[in-house]
Amino acid sequence: MVRLEGVAKHYPPDIVALQDLNLAIAKGEFVFLTGPSGAGKSTLLKLLFCAERPTQGEIFVDGIPLASLSASQVPHLRRKIGVVFQDFKLLTNRRVFDNVALSLEVTGLKRDQVERRVRQILDSVGLGGRIGQLPHQLSGGEQQRVAIARAVVNRPPILLADEPTGNLDRARTDEVMALMEELNAQGTTILFATHNERLYRHTHRRVLRLVDGRVEE
Ligand code: ADP
Ligand code: ADP
Repeated sequence: MVRLEGVAKHYPPDIVALQDLNLAIAKGEFVFLTGPSGAGKSTLLKLLFCAERPTQGEIFVDGIPLASLSASQVPHLRRKIGVVFQDFKLLTNRRVFDNVALSLEVTGLKRDQVERRVRQILDSVGLGGRIGQLPHQLSGGEQQRVAIARAVVNRPPILLADEPTGNLDRARTDEVMALMEELNAQGTTILFATHNERLYRHTHRRVLRLVDGRVEE
């Protein structure tokens, strides 16, 4: 589902964020990405959804070679990838419904289909009753569940999560983890960046550790 071959990312003038990265993630895997702050975790995720371009090397996402993607083809790639961030990145002046519906409307679905899918996904994250509220009326944990609903409402094969529990307490963190497990059980490939050791210490999942821009398993 994801393959990196000899990937490096430099930021001018002299920061080497990633170097000689070789990595493959199979369809349906749930992989943790760890490592200290500044190790390159966010950079790696940004390369996968083309928010950044590699300095060297090749990246394939669901068979698509990213190097050959033009700017106008990037939206096509992004329909395959859901992204969740530490700070939720919800539109603060839009209701919960619209935050989730916006990523569906661009796919050309009819209004009643959009409505049905949005209700369904919000029910599944336990927020069916909050559909008409604004983000600031929700707790942090609830806002993150809206963000997850938005990320997966068009059923992308891949979900990228960049420290999604970083702003949440332990109980809210566990709710988000349970949601991630459920999405993975339904077949979504997940790459989950975190430095919270509790989340991966006892896992049977693959744990990739980035240190100084290099990966250790
Ligand atoms: P992590 O997510 O593991 O904390 P990052 O990918 O954010 O790591 O950062 C890796 C390195 O790249 C750090 O040294 C960081 O300061 C640097 N970096 C990240 N983004 C940029 C940028 N846009 N411009 C310059 N340097 C950057
Ligand atoms: P910044 O976080 O500084 O705005 P980034 O380079 O991290 O810049 O990413 C650009 C922005 O585009 C992200 O903040 C994110 O909100 C948005 N974005 C890009 N791709 C996606 C995606 N597949 N799903 C959701 N949001 C996306």
